[in-house]
Amino acid sequence: MNRHQRIVLAEPRGFCAGVRRAIGIVERALDLHGAPVYVRKEIVHNHHIVEELRKRGAVFVDSEDEVPEGAVCVFSAHGVSPAVRAGATARNLEVIDATCPLVSKVHQEAVRYARDGHVILLVGHAEHEEVEGVRGEAPERTIVVESTEDVERLDLPADTPVAYLTQTTLSFDETAVVVEALHRRFTDIAGPNGDDICYASQNRQNAVKSLARANDLVLVVGSRNSSNSIRMVEVAREHGCAAHLVPDATHLDPGWLESVSSIGVSAGASAPEVLVRGLVERLAALGYTDVQVDDGAAEDVVFAMPARLADPVTGRIPRTPLADEAR
Ligand code: SF4
Repeated sequence: MNRHQRIVLAEPRGFCAGVRRAIGIVERALDLHGAPVYVRKEIVHNHHIVEELRKRGAVFVDSEDEVPEGAVCVFSAHGVSPAVRAGATARNLEVIDATCPLVSKVHQEAVRYARDGHVILLVGHAEHEEVEGVRGEAPERTIVVESTEDVERLDLPADTPVAYLTQTTLSFDETAVVVEALHRRFTDIAGPNGDDICYASQNRQNAVKSLARANDLVLVVGSRNSSNSIRMVEVAREHGCAAHLVPDATHLDPGWLESVSSIGVSAGASAPEVLVRGLVERLAALGYTDVQVDDGAAEDVVFAMPARLADPVTGRIPRTPLADEAR
């Protein structure tokens, strides 16, 4: 065994404030209302979390149309369009909104730009739920662009009043390139002074860059449909390091570890720490027993929970096991 085999854990990693809040909302809704509590789409993009909540009585549906009239329905952290809200109202659903406040901010920007007569250029992945929701604020005025090629293909005069918005979980280096292309292409352009990429995505990407510089391999714990986790893998590769997405320890391929003495490990914003621990244990069994931490930005962001989820007796919102899992 190589005596220098080590693991370097990224800090920060794993749950962001929006994910903790969203998971906590489903847990509190189950505590207060009992099962079933319906959740439109995956509350956050993590298979383990969805399964744990399903075991407790959450029922995940693709559409508000599948929820029985009058039932409790939680909207996921990724946000929903006004059409979805209207559909829920028409079914008399008791909605609890777990949209991340940073996603809600992008919705508000879309509403404002549409009202001011801008064409909205939404930088993001067309099929992602967050993008679907934001586009739904002004579908007739919004165009989704993913790349500089998409920008070049836009069939709009250069002096069209445009405003750009960006999905919160993109790679900020790639996004900067697309935003620069928009500035070259249009003369009358408004935007959020940079991008809308959230603090958690930025911090996790920065931490992964640091891992990529100092290790032979980077492993990112996250589900295959987790946008921010996928971006973290891409960022590591762009910085010259082999990298893989690992939904959980069972997906580790020992073949990746050939000639690897130092492994950087991080986790996407929706991945619970229990999955990181599982991966670290599996790596330890393979000889990577020296565990270090690469300290990055300190995070102390907390988003308030909806007051209606407070305990009726104490008036406080108790901690919940999945959302508040400790390191
Ligand atoms: Fe909110 Fe960012 Fe977390 Fe998404 S990744 S839930 S935008 S804090």
